[in-house]
Amino acid sequence: MATEVEIITCKNQIRSWSRTMRSNGHKIALVPTMGYLHQGHISLVEEAKKHANLIVVSIYINPSQFAPNEDLTRYPSDFNSDLLKLKQVGVNVIFHPENLYETNSESGQTGSSENVERESGFEPKIEIESGGSSVTVERESELSSCLEERGQLGHQTWIRVEKLEKGLCGKSRPIFFRGVATVVAKLFNVVEPDVAVFGKKDYQQWRIICRMVQDLDFSVEVIGSEIVRDADGLAMSSRNVYLSAYGRQKALSINRCLSKAKSSIQSGEISCKQLRDSVMQEICEAGGRIDYAEIILGKAPLSCPPNPVSSK
Ligand code: AMP
Repeated sequence: MATEVEIITCKNQIRSWSRTMRSNGHKIALVPTMGYLHQGHISLVEEAKKHANLIVVSIYINPSQFAPNEDLTRYPSDFNSDLLKLKQVGVNVIFHPENLYETNSESGQTGSSENVERESGFEPKIEIESGGSSVTVERESELSSCLEERGQLGHQTWIRVEKLEKGLCGKSRPIFFRGVATVVAKLFNVVEPDVAVFGKKDYQQWRIICRMVQDLDFSVEVIGSEIVRDADGLAMSSRNVYLSAYGRQKALSINRCLSKAKSSIQSGEISCKQLRDSVMQEICEAGGRIDYAEIILGKAPLSCPPNPVSSK
């Protein structure tokens, strides 16, 4: 049965809703998403309902976790369809802000990076002494996301979960987890939930959020929820819409070889190298390109796996 859902777009309004509800004895769960919802997201809502009686789903495509060469401008979205799905599963609020970041620099202007460099004394080139004479060299370029590319220079504060963000997906996406941790911290400060639910499909992300909550004393219980797959075995993802039928066939090799590796481990196989080699071989044979394949212990620090292997 479809239920009424309140749509809130303003930070102050959701904070005040949340405070009123908590003072009336309610418990609030937040499910952060970027929209284009599928059954994987809905399963997080169902999990959230086990832990709280009021559910907020945020829908916000976060520019600070996209590198300039990634797919921010074409990331899929369909708010009306999301609304229908959330009405059907039954949530109380959709938090759907247009922008979560400050847009002005401290001087009150939306400046170009040149202005800010001048205002802050930052110079992109520096002079260094070399063999008695001075030479001018370029500073190492700052890591930047689509947020900085847009010139949204009002935002300067970043959360970095320093060790966990470096390995695995962090190797090829160096600004991704900085953006995720920062936007989740902002959502926690704005929505003030008691509980937040994340998918273990994005395992490193889930671990990073747990660590951030622990290290920075957020008063939020973080729940990890299991992966939901389509009938053919592919993990559901908003980005699956980019896949052609042929691409999807190739992608199925990922779950196939990971399941085989899991059965091998369960039946006593302990050679990480062999397991990793067969995973990589099956994906390559299916026509896939591998960013990384690593085997780690569940509670090991994700940044330092015993034998990292990667091939492009
Ligand atoms: P996204 O909208 O892709 O940012 O994902 C929002 C949340 O949904 C994250 O916590 C994801 O880990 C989770 N999620 C996405 N796909 C799945 C899935 N197939 N199974 C379980 N959780 C998922």
